[in-house]
Amino acid sequence: MAIVTPIETPAGARRRLAISNPATLQPVGEIEVQNADDVNTALEAARKAQPAWAALSFDERARVIRRALAVVLERQDEFVEIVLSETGKTRSEALMMEIYATCDVMNHYAKNAAKILKTEKKRAHGLMGLMKQVRIAYRPLGVVGVISPWNGPLILAMNPTVQALMAGNAVVLKPSEVTPFSGQIPREIFQQAGLPDGLLQVLVGDGETGAALTAADVDKISFTGSVATGRKVAVACAERLIPCTLELGGKDAMIVCEDANLDNAAGGAVAGAFMNTGQYCCGTERVYAVDPVVDDFTEKVVERVAQLRQGAEGEFDVGAIFWPQQLAIIEEHMADAVEKGAKVLCGGRRNPNLDGLFYEPTVLTNVSHDMRIMTEETFGPVLPIMGVRDEEHAIQLANDSEYGLSGNVWTRDKQHGFEIAQRIITGSVCVNDMSVTYGVQEAPFGGRKNSGVGQVNGAVGLRSYCHAEPVIIDRFGGKQVATMYPHSLRRDEGMKKLMRMQWGTSLGRRLS
Ligand code: NAD
Repeated sequence: MAIVTPIETPAGARRRLAISNPATLQPVGEIEVQNADDVNTALEAARKAQPAWAALSFDERARVIRRALAVVLERQDEFVEIVLSETGKTRSEALMMEIYATCDVMNHYAKNAAKILKTEKKRAHGLMGLMKQVRIAYRPLGVVGVISPWNGPLILAMNPTVQALMAGNAVVLKPSEVTPFSGQIPREIFQQAGLPDGLLQVLVGDGETGAALTAADVDKISFTGSVATGRKVAVACAERLIPCTLELGGKDAMIVCEDANLDNAAGGAVAGAFMNTGQYCCGTERVYAVDPVVDDFTEKVVERVAQLRQGAEGEFDVGAIFWPQQLAIIEEHMADAVEKGAKVLCGGRRNPNLDGLFYEPTVLTNVSHDMRIMTEETFGPVLPIMGVRDEEHAIQLANDSEYGLSGNVWTRDKQHGFEIAQRIITGSVCVNDMSVTYGVQEAPFGGRKNSGVGQVNGAVGLRSYCHAEPVIIDRFGGKQVATMYPHSLRRDEGMKKLMRMQWGTSLGRRLS
């Protein structure tokens, strides 16, 4: 992510923003903030292009997505450089989180959309089944607005875009102003892949552009970002009575049981907390380890954290904070925790050896739910660990949160892990792993409580870019409805008899 500075512009002109690299503090480029007129022009082109795209077969659409996948593979080094310049994340993370994940998504939906969105034939129940055929057709919605954040600037723009396109929609994408150059990579990819003109429009800009998109004539908004903005998007969509999915922030809990493999759990905690410099929506933001193992576990975590190498260019493990606003939040949470008695075991400050926005990987103990670091999304390389009496206590604290995005449980007993997972009020849970759900394409991903509305990915996610349209076909050419009139008391008596047969006897209930 980048450092974003407004540039002075003459009155009436479009606003301009200057973007700098958070790791080197060097300028990256400038953008012009696109406004409501630009949004409407983009939408018009998208709407015009969409019907012909929707009329293509899944195979024909998949061919374009596969060509786009080939472009990503071919130009991956160039795309990684763009992501690095704006985010200051490590090269390995750009490769894993942005390029690998994007390729996986493209291949998955190109391969599986036809199966997931195939018209389904259903058997209607009871008497209805004798008279009617039921087909459910998945029809594209039209034009989908995608609004994406800065922490995964390529994958979080590409995943919804690929799904919406495969479902037959056009897309107007508004990436984050913090990563506007990474956000324009999808246009490059699809242009080179020969996606028909108009189908993917990319608008650069900030909240002004995003708000204009939610107020415009789109058929759905797929939003990924903060809770505060998500609420505004929800209100705008409610005004227009259009659906939205909201993938929002989290405060994911990790539970370490007494029988956990502590080496693996410590490794999982470090990966979960420090991947993407902790700027990962389902990053591990708080750990509850049961008292008998908390000291051993903490020691193992600190040993691993001490070995992490911080920097952006070269072979590093933990990169920069993507932009100054996030650094400010991390520092506020840390100051609040330390003032209230938290003990810093390592890190706890900006990295004094690096000029950019680097915060040292940090481990804290002596923490409590009176501290912001245990209750608000920190979104930084900070891992607070709390000892708890037992698993019940851990579950209770995990649920003591306004968020519910994901979470993880560590135990050698998989079934027990599953049972604990069922008691955490959250969007998804991983057992003996950091939160990897977003990368498992078969799994519907979405938050509960303040962490979101709706689900993306999997069959549920792909279908949410469609209207499921039932088509009911009478088996007898409409004979039954044609004889509905005249009503008569005799027929009413027949209906009463039928109801007694259908639901007044156990055989009837079974057949109905
Ligand atoms: P943000 O809400 O500040 O911005 C997200 C996007 O919304 C940006 O493109 C921004 O320009 C746009 N926007 C701003 N104001 C708008 C408005 N009024 N109407 C419409 N759009 C508007 O979020 P961020 O800081 O870019 O992203 C970080 C947040 O995203 C964190 O909370 C993180 O947890 C969350 N996130 C969630 C997921 C998930 O899948 N649940 C994934 C990644 C990030």
